[in-house]
Amino acid sequence: MLEGVIGAQRAERLHTVAADFRSRLGNRVIWNFSSTAVSGGVAEMLQVLVGYVEDLGVDMRWTVISGDADFFTVTKRLHNRIHNLPGDGGPLGPAEAAHYDEVLAANAAALRDQVRPGDLVLLHDPQTAGMTSALVSRGAHVVWRCHIGADRQTDLTRSAWEFLRPRIAGADGYIFSRRAYTPSYLPDREIWVIPPSIDPYSAKNQYLDPANVRAILSLTGLIDGTRVEAPGTFVRRDGSAGTVTRPAVVVAEDLPDAGEPLLVQVSRWDRLKDMIGVMRGFADHVAGYGDARLILAGPAAAAVADDPEGAAVYAECLAAWHALPIDRRSRVVLATLPMADVDENAAMVNALQRQAWVIAQKSLAEGFGLTVAEGMWKARPVVGSAVGGIQDQIAEGTGILLPDPTDLSAFGKAVRDLLDDPARAERMGVAAQAFVRENYLGDVHLIRYAQLFGTLMNAEPRRS
Ligand code: UDP
Repeated sequence: MLEGVIGAQRAERLHTVAADFRSRLGNRVIWNFSSTAVSGGVAEMLQVLVGYVEDLGVDMRWTVISGDADFFTVTKRLHNRIHNLPGDGGPLGPAEAAHYDEVLAANAAALRDQVRPGDLVLLHDPQTAGMTSALVSRGAHVVWRCHIGADRQTDLTRSAWEFLRPRIAGADGYIFSRRAYTPSYLPDREIWVIPPSIDPYSAKNQYLDPANVRAILSLTGLIDGTRVEAPGTFVRRDGSAGTVTRPAVVVAEDLPDAGEPLLVQVSRWDRLKDMIGVMRGFADHVAGYGDARLILAGPAAAAVADDPEGAAVYAECLAAWHALPIDRRSRVVLATLPMADVDENAAMVNALQRQAWVIAQKSLAEGFGLTVAEGMWKARPVVGSAVGGIQDQIAEGTGILLPDPTDLSAFGKAVRDLLDDPARAERMGVAAQAFVRENYLGDVHLIRYAQLFGTLMNAEPRRS
């Protein structure tokens, strides 16, 4: 399946590892539990990996847990603190702990009959961590995978890690995207460092020719569509043809033309992504120097169930956009992309990233930026903050790392330098694509999983 991009040798290695793994797995199932089916890096990655693993003949399933608004307020608090940010500043005391435990106990109870002793379970992120002991006592091999983290531990991060400590205790292994993210209390031998991957054939990353890119963006309402003739098509995950039909909600004085220099950031509406900083950096340090435009795009704010701050953050961006002087405001587009059809949404993101001359990911914290890998895969130079996983992703010569993500003038200068030097931008883009091919495609990821699960299957489950 991946052979076209990874070559025969890497494909053969993957098939050999998979065949060996299948025979050891027998009729056991690999379960993934996460908290949302749409938007965000975890959902994106699981959609891909579950498909690959099925193609390799391994029974891997993915179930989304349920929770109420109070539960997701608590988990968002954990999420923010693990990123060393105060978030809403609310408590993580006994009442929050009790509610968190109650919601996850109910989820675990509903799953008990499905998960069998010996099965392999991957619990994703703090939202599912509290199911660890229930599934361990069911006799499953449980691994907690944390997709987020901060480069250094502080009182704030430690408060979240202490909350999680009893709740992840007893798992057979722990996966982090970077070594620096691990809380100090976890034993080294149980920690696995596995970065995520992207799927080059998904609607998010598949090749789209430039006419199709323009058609998709014009149907979505993101560029001026007067000259569009193509229908705006993409290939769905199941192989069928899709067409973009739903418009985005677009806030703009004026739409970019297809030929204009374009800076794009695609992110959830999360303060950590600093969409407002991108807007101000662009308005103050890029817009006045040339004719470039900026598109800031994210999911329709109400669509992401486990992200209660999304609507508020979008509203802040909107207010900041209105506050821009008109000559700057007219160069910035805010868009919320419909999420009703995941593949269609992915095609829109794909088209935006391909239309971009430069891609920004000016996050204040980032476990691992899938959007960075996606942009790089499209051979675009990414200007990203030197935080978290982005530091590993933007290797020398593949993009520009910003030592201080709050330095808007440095951000603007990095963007301008690339817009003004298309040859350099292109060189970086080519190097970026090669770097992703080498490090962040599914075969590398799956082989790491097979090593981890192989080790666990050799051991007895902790409790049965
Ligand atoms: N994404 C999307 N539609 C949107 C906004 C984001 O599909 O409107 C995707 C984006 O392309 C990427 C993922 O959501 O695949 C975000 O993952 P990332 O690791 O960049 O950040 P996270 O949201 O996990 O913090």
